[in-house]
Amino acid sequence: MKPSRLLLVVPCYNEEAILNHSYSILSQYYRDIMGRGLISTDSKICLVNDGSRDKTWDIIEDLCAKDDLIIGVKLSRNFGHQSAIMAGLEQHVDDFDCFITIDADLQDDINAITGMIEKHAEGAMIVYGVRGDRSSDSWFKRSTAEGFYKVMQKMGVPVIFNHADFRLMDRRVLQELGNYKEINLFLRGVVPLIGFRSDKVVYNRLERIAGETKYPLSKMVLFAWNGITSFSTFPMRLVLYFGVLNFSLAMLIVVYILSSYLIGFTVPGWTSTMLPLTFFSGSNMMALGLIGEYIGKIYEEVKGRPRYIIEKIVNE
Ligand code: UDP
Ligand code: MG
Repeated sequence: MKPSRLLLVVPCYNEEAILNHSYSILSQYYRDIMGRGLISTDSKICLVNDGSRDKTWDIIEDLCAKDDLIIGVKLSRNFGHQSAIMAGLEQHVDDFDCFITIDADLQDDINAITGMIEKHAEGAMIVYGVRGDRSSDSWFKRSTAEGFYKVMQKMGVPVIFNHADFRLMDRRVLQELGNYKEINLFLRGVVPLIGFRSDKVVYNRLERIAGETKYPLSKMVLFAWNGITSFSTFPMRLVLYFGVLNFSLAMLIVVYILSSYLIGFTVPGWTSTMLPLTFFSGSNMMALGLIGEYIGKIYEEVKGRPRYIIEKIVNE
């Protein structure tokens, strides 16, 4: 069988500290698997600059100039990790047979790429990279990240446990992915929805050797929240349950108030006024906020703004 043309898409945001290093490892690995006939010699690596404020784009341009293995895509500003991935992928749907996405810091072991290509050759249309050992992550990062997958699954988002954005997709899958038009694209949830035959490759997560994480806690929480509210109406239902509970409680209180009135025990109590008042207005406010969250999402989707804007492409 003819080896597949592979495109590796790497989103890069303020990665000047690590990019040259990642490039040398990746390009060497690439040439090695090309030499072994695992991938076609037309395969490329696409570095997507997601509006970095440091020298990332200059580095990408230099790499493009000295190595035609590299394609550089520059977004007009920072659109976020998921959109940067989509920009690199969608731009090249017709030119490659399969696509792998990987982070610029190479914390996801690149040696898993060989396994992915083999599974693809055996017929898997999607191959998920799954983190086996996470001991290189701090305890905090690991437990919040693993908690994230568990909460997501509980809420009905079809994420694969411990799989982030290191995955292989066949061109066919990517074409279908293009039909998911949402602006708030949460790839980890959408890709499993596409279906087709899939497989997994387990690898150990390595340490980031330079630069800092672009996902501090606040961004991680936002990402998780986005994932949940883009995929699951469970939080809304929770509010409904909570509302029903509140309503039942309120009914009990009404009975209590009426019966005290009938008995003639009508000393007006401050506590019994303030307590329900604060409680119910508090929960109302919360419910409204949650509904607002979904309405906000609808608002963003309805506008149908572009997910990303490409400013220029080098070495196309
Ligand atoms: N990234 C991006 N745009 C952003 C934030 C991150 O393209 O707005 C890229 C970043 O350059 C890296 C990947 O997304 O290649 C994952 O980020 P990072 O390694 O910092 O996250 P972590 O591994 O700590 O979760
Ligand atoms: Mg990382």
